[in-house]
Parts: sequence; C-alpha cells; structure tokens
Amino acid sequence: MVTIVAGGRVATLEGVVRADLTIADGRVAAIEPPRSRRIADAVIDVDGQLVVPGFIDIQINGGFGLDFTNDPEAIWEVGARLPQYGVTAFLPTVITSPAATVVEAQHVMTAGPPADYTGAVPIGLHLEGPMLSPKQPGTHDTLHLREPEAAATDTWSPNTGVLMVTLAPELPGALDLIEALVERGVVVSIGHSDATYEEAVAGIRRGATIGTHLYNAMSAFQHREPGLVGALLDETDVATEIIVDGIHSHPAAVRVAWQAKGPDHLVLITDAMAAMGMGHGRFVISSIDVTVDETGPRNAKGVLAGSVLTMDEAVRNLAEFTGCSPAEAIGAATANPARVIGDPTRGVLEIGARADVTILDADLNALATLVAGEVVYDGSA
Ligand code: ZN
Repeated sequence: MVTIVAGGRVATLEGVVRADLTIADGRVAAIEPPRSRRIADAVIDVDGQLVVPGFIDIQINGGFGLDFTNDPEAIWEVGARLPQYGVTAFLPTVITSPAATVVEAQHVMTAGPPADYTGAVPIGLHLEGPMLSPKQPGTHDTLHLREPEAAATDTWSPNTGVLMVTLAPELPGALDLIEALVERGVVVSIGHSDATYEEAVAGIRRGATIGTHLYNAMSAFQHREPGLVGALLDETDVATEIIVDGIHSHPAAVRVAWQAKGPDHLVLITDAMAAMGMGHGRFVISSIDVTVDETGPRNAKGVLAGSVLTMDEAVRNLAEFTGCSPAEAIGAATANPARVIGDPTRGVLEIGARADVTILDADLNALATLVAGEVVYDGSA
C-alpha cells in the first residue's frame, strides 16, 4: 500500500518544506518536491496545509467520560478517539492506586488491542505513583502512597507494559530504584515531590531524565532553595513536562519554562482526565470525585485533578503564550516526547520513520490524522 500526502507544507528536521510525503508499508518512504505523481494506491491532497508528525501525549489519565485507573480496558476506546486531536501515540497514565490496579493495566497492555482496533497507539503505561511525596499528593489518594520498594516494582519494564514512572526522589530508597528502573529501560520522571534542589539533582544524577508537570505538585522555586522547579529549569539536559492550559500555570510561568527548556526539552502533555471531550460536570479519577467547571477539574478541596486539555490546544496555547514558531510548538508535542521515551521512529518525519502524521490548518487545528499510514481521523468526513 503506497499513499501520497500531496501538496502540503511538511515539517521536517530541516524546517517546513513544500513537499509530497510518500508512505509505504506504514513508513515514510520519501519526502520530495511535488512533481509528476509516483504510482500510489491513494493520494490525499492537503492543498498547502501543514503536514507534521503525530502528537505524542506521555501523560493522559483518560477522556470521553472514561478513566484508565478505574478501567484500564478504556485505553482502547479513548485511543480510538484521540486522533481527532492530532494524537497518534500516548502513554495511558495510572495514578496512585492499589498494586492490583497496576497489574490489571499491565495485562491490558500486554494483551494488546482488540482485533479491529484503529486509533492512537498506547506505547506503554505511565505509572504516576504510588511512590510520591505525602507533602505533594495533588489529588492522589494518600492512603495508597508507598515508599519505594524494589520487590514491589520488579515486574515494571517496557516488556510488561510499563514505559514511564513518576516518583519522588527524596523518599527513602528512591535513588536506588531510579537506577534499577532506568537499567530496565523505564523512563523515570520526578514529580509529586517535595525534594530540595540537592535531592532533585541527586535523582537526575541517578538517571531521571524528565520532570512531571512542571510547577504543579512540586517544591517551588525560591532564590536560596531552588527546589525541584529550580533543578528542572537549570539542568540543561533534563526535559520537563508542562500542562499549558492557562489554568495549571500562568502564561508568564510558561514563558520562563520555554526560555529555560525550549525548544528541545519542553514536553507538552495534557494530563487529561475523564472530562476531556465532555464539557462541564461530575467525573471521577481513580477513586476521587471531581467537578469540572471553567476553573478546570477539581476535587472536593478545590485541588486540580488533571485537566480537560487536548494536545492540539496545548500546541496552540504554547505558540500563543510564548510567541514561538508553529514548528517549535509542534516539536514540543512530537520530537521532544519521542526523545524522552527514546523512540527515534516517532516524533519526526524522515525516511524510515513511522508514518504517524497529523494534518493541521494554519491555526493549528487538526484536520486529519494517520497512524502507520492509515487514515484514522478525517475531519472533513
Ligand atoms: Zn500529577
């Protein structure tokens, strides 16, 4: 099957170029100036629209009324609908919960998709907890928080469905656990943490490569105690996630993050929960009741409980808040998360890369989405 995405402005490593993108066997086979058409089974004429790598959301708790922690099988139903926001891959996120919940989610991942599945690809779980600081729980249930323990986590690896773990490095035993997880190929992110600057840097030295939702649920920046925020902003090789919904962080704080981490190390996430795509109302995340109104999703105490952000909105917001170029904002949703999870086949459009492609209009709205060369969302249909 050869498909040509014709006449677009293609975001490549060398910049945005007028080109036809040829896809064969689910991979990018050619990016070349529009010319007499190659032989193709299908031609998708995109008439000057932006052709970019599919978005990768490395922290999403659910959406469309469904919550992965409560119902890991929902990964497929949500994944099938994420391409409408330009998402082609995601890390379904399970928040602090009993060990059996994580095991169930691992089973869903290793069993793989239903036979007729089309949609965004869940690459592996992001376990946000339970080894988090009781001082920075956010909306997580403190009853289920645990101290790091090798035995409880020795089944966590990409082979068993776990790609990323958020933990607090200041907890006893956390540094050894970071090293063990990284050795097994798990990406370790620092978050829900009250770490001092020194404790945060110690976690980075032992292998943590990213921070979880910068600013939210972490020790704040102070000029004599820079905290986890200071460590993430200052450490040049470390990436950080950020929720750019205009609620979780002030636009000025987003600009500070961009100046410190952009364009290569800022990673847009949604941290979306069940209310994403649903509007205002009452929802749950794990066992927590959440009310959604114009101030976002909040638990009974008013603490933010995830977001209702979508990835395409996050990209638009980053461009608006920082004044960065569309290509840079797109990179924060594509190349940057791909680099964090160590996947060179995603997040870029180059020969040999997966043909995970999103077509955007000039205002960065998703028009169509392809996963492995197959159209999985067509906004004009
Ligand atoms: Zn969180």
